[in-house]
Amino acid sequence: MNFGGTEETHDRGLDSLSFEVGPIRPPSEGGSHSLLLRTTRNCPWARCRFCYGLIYNREKFELRTVDEIEKDIDTVSAMVDAMKSASWKLGYGGAINYHVGHALLDQDPALESNHCFVMVFNWASFGSRTVFLQDANSLIAPTSQLVEVLCYLKKAFPTIERITSYARAKTIAKKTSEDLESLRKAGLSRLHVGLETGDDEVLKYVDKGVTAAEQIAAGRKAKEAGFELSEYVMPDLGGRAMSDQHARNTARVLNEIAPDFIRLRPLLPGPGLPLYEDYAAGTFQLSSPHERLREVRTMVENLRVSSRLCFDHFLNSWYRDGRRRETLFRQDYNGYKLPEEKENVLALIEEGLRLDESVHLDARTMIGLRHL
Ligand code: SF4
Repeated sequence: MNFGGTEETHDRGLDSLSFEVGPIRPPSEGGSHSLLLRTTRNCPWARCRFCYGLIYNREKFELRTVDEIEKDIDTVSAMVDAMKSASWKLGYGGAINYHVGHALLDQDPALESNHCFVMVFNWASFGSRTVFLQDANSLIAPTSQLVEVLCYLKKAFPTIERITSYARAKTIAKKTSEDLESLRKAGLSRLHVGLETGDDEVLKYVDKGVTAAEQIAAGRKAKEAGFELSEYVMPDLGGRAMSDQHARNTARVLNEIAPDFIRLRPLLPGPGLPLYEDYAAGTFQLSSPHERLREVRTMVENLRVSSRLCFDHFLNSWYRDGRRRETLFRQDYNGYKLPEEKENVLALIEEGLRLDESVHLDARTMIGLRHL
């Protein structure tokens, strides 16, 4: 049976349809089965010493043209049409479901290794609701171009409810309020911002390229324009020496911004990173699992926000039970509601501190150097 849908897909076949996809997305976008649409390539900054743009192979930042991005949207449409056509032929009335997926794979097993097919199938079978604009700071694109892309995307898929993007605080600060509002109106609804820390000394040390005051101004501006805001915090970014100031000033900045989500991403400075060089040279000391927990405790104690605190990353692996690998904190994308669940989070931290430190995941062991 041939499941081709539109004239174009009849001609080309689902197996030959693909579009450009960047290397990463926030874990919560994976949980939502988001479509990944690459609107820019790589990171325009690529200097943060704990990241260095390595995930993008330190390749040069590029804007993609509206035409290129719209062609990718057309390809997604063609893929969805072909899946719907297969569904009708199989008697599922256009629904893209498990049975349709199996039938398509039976017809062409090679589709299983076509990551675009897998992504679009998952996205469509979960209702085509959420989209993430790649790469590291797509907000830097000219507002008029982004608005054009957003309108084209929403027109192609009226089911879309949420469109999100990474954004540097510096870039948000440079956009006018009118720019942000027009992006918001065009459908961009959530921004993922790497706060990392609210401490100016740590921000400078890691070359984040932004000050705490700029982080606050950008976060407030995004909220005022109506965006949902996720702020990412990096436990242990100041190492042992700056742990306390990192925790306290991060809480202070978060209190000023009042983001919707606070997402913790503990530091893991692997080879190739400037911070790894400091660690290997002994000028930067990583904290132990208990020290990291105490740092998180200081931050949480000082938070006065109404936000969701999320531990939605595998590096938040402190355990309640080391043998069964039961993590201390739920690693779901909606986390703990503050302030209602603050005492619960603090109680969990105490529980983790009572366990022997050796049961918790230790970044120093993961890096593979002897503990320094
Ligand atoms: S801005 Fe983000 S992607 Fe770019 S180097 Fe910094 S942390 Fe990495």
